Amino acid sequence: MDTNLSVVLHAQGDLRLEERPIPEPGPNDVLLRMHSVGICGSDVHYWQNGRIGDFVVKQPMVLGHEAAGTVVKVGSAVRHLSVGDRVAVEPGVPRDMDEFFKSGRYNLSPSIFFCATPPDDGNLCRYYKHSANFCYKLPDNVTMEEGALIEPLSVGIHACRRAGVSLGTTVLVCGSGPIGLVCLLVAKAMGASLVAITDLSSERLKMAKQLGADFPLVVAKEDTPQEVAHRVEGMLGSQPHVTIECTGAESSMQTAIYVTRSGGVVVLVGLGAEMASVPLVNAAVREVDIRGVFRYCNTWPMAISMLSSGKVNVKPLVTHRFPLEEAVQAFETTRRGQGVKVMLKCDQDDQEL
Ligand SMILES: [Zn+2]
Repeated sequence: MDTNLSVVLHAQGDLRLEERPIPEPGPNDVLLRMHSVGICGSDVHYWQNGRIGDFVVKQPMVLGHEAAGTVVKVGSAVRHLSVGDRVAVEPGVPRDMDEFFKSGRYNLSPSIFFCATPPDDGNLCRYYKHSANFCYKLPDNVTMEEGALIEPLSVGIHACRRAGVSLGTTVLVCGSGPIGLVCLLVAKAMGASLVAITDLSSERLKMAKQLGADFPLVVAKEDTPQEVAHRVEGMLGSQPHVTIECTGAESSMQTAIYVTRSGGVVVLVGLGAEMASVPLVNAAVREVDIRGVFRYCNTWPMAISMLSSGKVNVKPLVTHRFPLEEAVQAFETTRRGQGVKVMLKCDQDDQEL
């Protein structure tokens, strides 16, 4: 075995490539040779700001949580995986069998382990150990990159489940970044009849159009939320049943409430300031439900079957690839907002996608 090159965030603005020891898997773990790891907005946010909300980087932390790799060592109690299996990694692993775990909503467990959320290390490295129960074997027709993309795809699945998207639902997605795009893909796959999607950038909306958006809409900062709502209603022919807000911008949250049909659902995926001024009474008197999401739960098996069956195609999301050694350039690319998904290739011996 070689060394364990890792992408480590030491403090705000201080990102380093360094060698770490190769971990030893416990009885219920597997050791993975990492293959493809996507860079997430949250990784960049920790790098630039040293924190997200109450999660503060206080000690060096390995970044990365959108990952797939190959099993190279199996813990003594693991039965369902063997050496050579290609797996997708679910980064959130509950530590306690608390009420949230018991009810199946383990993403809400306050003590959950989560890759690259301080103080827990992520998997942007050569070798990484993880709970075997949260590693999912990939079918032969699902690539490692698709496996890594299951993480952002899971955000879309969870958001659409929370929104209750189903056959014939009309949907507005606010924001055409990677998360807006996966919400679009999943909404379509779940049977949404029409999906409109907004963004400030017409460049980003091109990808949305390519991925199946019915109505891409460029919005400007000066547009009032009521104006945007009116235009969306005009395009869809009526107000959307569901709005999935992925920007975190206050004005976009306001649009989301104004535009959603009475009795419909607004799901807030994007994170903005803690306090926001929104037309809450407008939502209340029209019985528009406002729902939050926190990551996801119980999505990997569904995502794998969606990818394997060809119902969802996430491959176009990957626009840039860098070897692990060039992680700093890869992070720069993501920070500048270039492309959609930047993928780091951690396995020098395997050049498959
Ligand atoms: Zn992420």
